[in-house]
Amino acid sequence: MTMPSGSTHSRTTTHSWNTRAVHAGKDDLAALGLHAPPIDLSTTYPSYDVVGEAERLDEFAAGHDDGGPPVYGRVANPTVRRFETALAELEGAESAVAFASGMAALSACLLAQVTAGKPEVVGVRPLYGTTDHLLESGLLGNSVTWATPDEVASAITDRTGLVVVESPANPTLTEVDLRALADACGPVPLLVDNTFATPVLQRPLTLGASLVLHSATKYLGGHGDVMGGVIACAEDFARRLRQVRFVTGGMLHPMAGYELLRGLATLPVRVRAASATAAELARRLAAHHRVTRVHYPSLGGAMVSFETSVDPVALVAAVRLITPAVSLGSVDSLIQHPASLTHRIMEEVARKDAGISPDLVRLSVGLEDVEDLWTDLSEALDQPTR
Ligand SMILES: *Cc1c(COP(=O)(O)O)cnc(C)c1O
Repeated sequence: MTMPSGSTHSRTTTHSWNTRAVHAGKDDLAALGLHAPPIDLSTTYPSYDVVGEAERLDEFAAGHDDGGPPVYGRVANPTVRRFETALAELEGAESAVAFASGMAALSACLLAQVTAGKPEVVGVRPLYGTTDHLLESGLLGNSVTWATPDEVASAITDRTGLVVVESPANPTLTEVDLRALADACGPVPLLVDNTFATPVLQRPLTLGASLVLHSATKYLGGHGDVMGGVIACAEDFARRLRQVRFVTGGMLHPMAGYELLRGLATLPVRVRAASATAAELARRLAAHHRVTRVHYPSLGGAMVSFETSVDPVALVAAVRLITPAVSLGSVDSLIQHPASLTHRIMEEVARKDAGISPDLVRLSVGLEDVEDLWTDLSEALDQPTR
């Protein structure tokens, strides 16, 4: 069979976003005679033209990626590039740069700005516990000013390199008006951690953000079996991130690149299905006599947090179908107590400041049947209080 020229090879902008989630990063496969994306595990590549390769290596070191053989596996990888291309397209970004984890991705953004003489960060709480800790500890040479969204404009100085926000935020699911916040940031890059919403529910670059962070470990992978991080942004910032990745070595593994690309294909259906279940569980939890408060974003999503009059540690220990575990975004449901685990690293006053109650329980809703999940949750809530 001959290929209809141009129709499957190039990006077809008339296709819907859901269709692109399936095909992005794979547009060249049919012309290559392939169906599944190839996995390139090479750590090195033949360099017969030494002079030419030396010049290319200089370009790579400066953060440019010409899409050709990467010279060395820490520099770039063809399978990882497919994931980067796809994620950039789904977030509406010029480029994306993938890392070994979400924290490696955030670290690269911080290093890029600190080394450019912009060491001050303005952070909007609450943030993922380790993000809060990284900013607060100053381990990468940054300082941090904590601000509410309304205080961000006045917290910015000429040495501010980054404004960091999560919306919906971990673990309280607090939502921030990203468009207003982007306006308040002016020329300072606004980094939005979009791990919870995913590009299915929210594309921060269309709201004025400059950098979108994902812990790809969560919904993008979607099956609890791959770690990764990614930043979607303009090509000039992507170049600086590649420079940092080249020297710090936080490259995403090609197998992980493959799994993450595969995850993107089912991302829209997974997020929509889990969100419908989460919304129903949020409704039922709100009516339960042992639930004092439910947090569920107006945007939707598959995360639900709630405060309960039951000992949260006992509640988490009592579930049977749901797994008591940190992390989120998998096909199976997970529950955890932020004050004990994900946000334990924060000082108690900081947790309080961020609105994280000691009674708060965080639920990541998976793809199980809503009735089975409700039976498990309500039985755990109805157990005799200890
Ligand atoms: C998990 C998580 C991170 C960190 O990502 P890793 O892949 O674990 O390094 C950052 N932000 C949010 C919102 C997360 O849930």
